[in-house]
Amino acid sequence: MEKIQRKVSELIRPEIRALKAYHVPDATGLIKLDAMENPYAWPEAVKREWLDILQQVALNRYPDPDARGLRERLRAALGVPPGMELMLGNGSDELIQIILMAMARPGAVVLAPTPTFVMYEMIATFAGMKFAGVPLRPDFSLDIPAMSKAIAAHQPAVIFLAWPNNPTGNLFVREDVRRVIEQAPGLVVLDEAYHAFAGDSFMDQLGKHDNLLVMRTLSKQGLAGLRLGMLAGPRPWLDEFNKVRLPYNIGVLTQASAGFALAHLALMDAQAGQIRAERERLFKTLSAMKGVQAWPSQANFILFRVEQGDADRVFEGLRQHGVLIKNLNPAGGLLKNCLRVTVGTPEENAAFLKALEAVL
Ligand code: PMP
Repeated sequence: MEKIQRKVSELIRPEIRALKAYHVPDATGLIKLDAMENPYAWPEAVKREWLDILQQVALNRYPDPDARGLRERLRAALGVPPGMELMLGNGSDELIQIILMAMARPGAVVLAPTPTFVMYEMIATFAGMKFAGVPLRPDFSLDIPAMSKAIAAHQPAVIFLAWPNNPTGNLFVREDVRRVIEQAPGLVVLDEAYHAFAGDSFMDQLGKHDNLLVMRTLSKQGLAGLRLGMLAGPRPWLDEFNKVRLPYNIGVLTQASAGFALAHLALMDAQAGQIRAERERLFKTLSAMKGVQAWPSQANFILFRVEQGDADRVFEGLRQHGVLIKNLNPAGGLLKNCLRVTVGTPEENAAFLKALEAVL
């Protein structure tokens, strides 16, 4: 064992050894409100139709490497402006990885406001890039003077803006986003993972700024298990990223299933509508609870702080009551004593609220 450890220390990059692997807690037997999944399944009749389609899929063949049929359907569904390209990834996580692998010149910097989606920093580290985090204001808005200063100092190759932001749930003011795009010397990736719950988008701005890309995912709309992310933007960028993409990154089952799902967009939209309505109910109840500060959300989750208490204890207490959410207290800073709950079904949300009342 010691011998192996010595070799590991010698051969594995120190920045990788220093990392903790992305931790996914075991949710067996728990009400799962930790990972921004859509809680609704498809109706039985739709499932049967889907299985009929899967039966015709040739599992013995490699997938279409360019997923042409699926990309055409997605272009229409997402409203990708004419003349802009669309690239697919095994989840948007893979798209972030592809972008950074292609941009990891020595000394290149990735910049993002923090707190935000942790994979931007993790993948920057994997790729050997530097990460510069610029703290959000206490109300989670973009600190434009601080962003301008950091942009000037670091000259980032790429800036990620999650819009709405995870884990805070807010949409940064459009004008602030526009300023960042205009000040950026490099690429800006606007990550619209929570678009279905947000009611706003920069998709129609593609092409108006040469350095803007828009990223989406099907994960929050009931298809987290499929792993399909989308990146839209000007062809010169995507042509380069496409060289880094592995040829068969989107499997036949994902191509067929996502194509089928797009033929049932109304179903996905209706589910997103239900989640938005539940979010508002959940927010009202949380806000009215003594000792809880909840922030309004444009996503399918709500960030809240336990004011006098200890978020670690509340998190554990909820788990004892059979409800798993996300504890953000270990991140510290603006997230001290904060927890994040994904909006579930009315029954799941009621169970969460009841458990929270009990443990507060
Ligand atoms: N971007 C943001 C802002 C996210 O919160 C997440 C998921 N937590 C992702 C991207 C990754 O999504 P996917 O499932 O498409 O990899």
